Amino acid sequence: MEKVQSTTHVQGDGRARLYNFRQDELAKWFQSRGEPAYRGRQVFQWLYQHLAVTFDEMTNLPKPLRSRLAECAVIGTAQERLRQVSKVDGTVKFLLAWPDGVTVETVLMRHNYGNSVCVSTQVGCKMGCRFCASTLGGMIRQMTAGEMVEQLMFSARLLRQEGGRVSSVVLMGSGEPMDNYDEAMKFIDIIHDPDGLNIGLRHITVSTVGLVPGIVRLADDGRPVTLAVSLHAPTDELRSSMMPVNRAYPIAKLLDACRYYCRKTGRRISFEYALVGGKNDSLEHARQLASLVRDIPCHINLIPVNYVPERNLRRTPRDQVLAFQRELQAQGVNATVRREMGHDIAAACGQLRAEYAGRV
Ligand code: SF4
Repeated sequence: MEKVQSTTHVQGDGRARLYNFRQDELAKWFQSRGEPAYRGRQVFQWLYQHLAVTFDEMTNLPKPLRSRLAECAVIGTAQERLRQVSKVDGTVKFLLAWPDGVTVETVLMRHNYGNSVCVSTQVGCKMGCRFCASTLGGMIRQMTAGEMVEQLMFSARLLRQEGGRVSSVVLMGSGEPMDNYDEAMKFIDIIHDPDGLNIGLRHITVSTVGLVPGIVRLADDGRPVTLAVSLHAPTDELRSSMMPVNRAYPIAKLLDACRYYCRKTGRRISFEYALVGGKNDSLEHARQLASLVRDIPCHINLIPVNYVPERNLRRTPRDQVLAFQRELQAQGVNATVRREMGHDIAAACGQLRAEYAGRV
């Protein structure tokens, strides 16, 4: 597995941000401060097995060490600004704010197979997909690995109170993970650690708009996560009109990278296809899509697009969604319609943040 260089461990006030450390880095950090390396493991377990939020909870550490830690380190720095809970399916959407004023969304979704958390990898996004609210204000800054971990911890703590746990994670919130590759991979290493949250790589989904170099790098670096590729259109002309990234990485190049990912990792690709009324949702589109991906081990997730007021998008009627799915299946391609989560709250990526920004 490729080791990613450590990045931002320290915040503006000089205190270390502990969610930014992999376990091995934490051990080295303690050593650099004259403490035994095993303190790193102990603190890592407190953070992720016990979900500690204060150093006082870390009762197997000597009291003087706990006091020193409180002076030179912080556990989390985000504050919950808003929380929306769906009355329909229990989906919880958190809007979190960091000390520099940026906000991101993270969502807890409850499925019959477990609890999944959607994490944002950037504040805003520069990819400009036409159907997405997250990109309306452009990209403001990258999230650090620790800030991604912290998003997850809000759901982990809520679930712990209910006797549950996070079973899967999707990097599908605002931002493009491949455009913040090192931090996204470090985040995966931290949450995958068996001494911590122990989330299996197969239960981690990296969603990309189709940045080909990132897909190739991910295939090569030994983390066989689930790769979700936003395809959304079966022709370059249509895809470029919906996703500017297609001009840099057109469909043929993107699908070659997907084939490479399958060969290297043995994993199936999950192709995301947002159905937009009158745009990409005809049966002819379904047939074109099937012929593109038929030779790739894959699954297609059909997503009836959420209404984005700023984008004036039309939804595909339910019977047409099902007809599109049937056509793909008839052409020999696996397809499911994604269950809509929390449709009574502002559940589309970026919507809560956009609404909040409009209020303040
Ligand atoms: S869909 Fe994803 S990649 Fe595209 S603009 Fe929105 S957040 Fe960015």
